[in-house]
Amino acid sequence: MPMAFVFMTVNLGSKMDVLRELMLVDGVIEAYALLGEYDIVARVWAKSQDELGRIIKERISRIGNVRSVITLLATEDLWEEAKLMAKRRSTAVNICPNCHAEMPLEAKYCGFCGKKLK
Ligand SMILES: [Zn+2]
Repeated sequence: MPMAFVFMTVNLGSKMDVLRELMLVDGVIEAYALLGEYDIVARVWAKSQDELGRIIKERISRIGNVRSVITLLATEDLWEEAKLMAKRRSTAVNICPNCHAEMPLEAKYCGFCGKKLK
């Protein structure tokens, strides 16, 4: 499912207003105010590329005070790889020998039963 990062510049002093409106747009998963070349970045998700394009063109670009919109599409074919990497990383945990809870590698004691971890 397509996802994009949308970088925006907005009129001076309008970041908060634009952020507020962005969060009302269907498909906007998260949005942040930035310091630098762009004022706001939003992560947008849609069921299809067409829908994603519509959200950006007809909703996000039309929010008042938005001056420019740059869309960077996430490359879907690399997601699976990234997910695998994240999974591999999350399996690097310390399993409690007593209650089998997963604790971070650096944990010395189980956060659930208190047993000392190896
Ligand atoms: Zn435990």
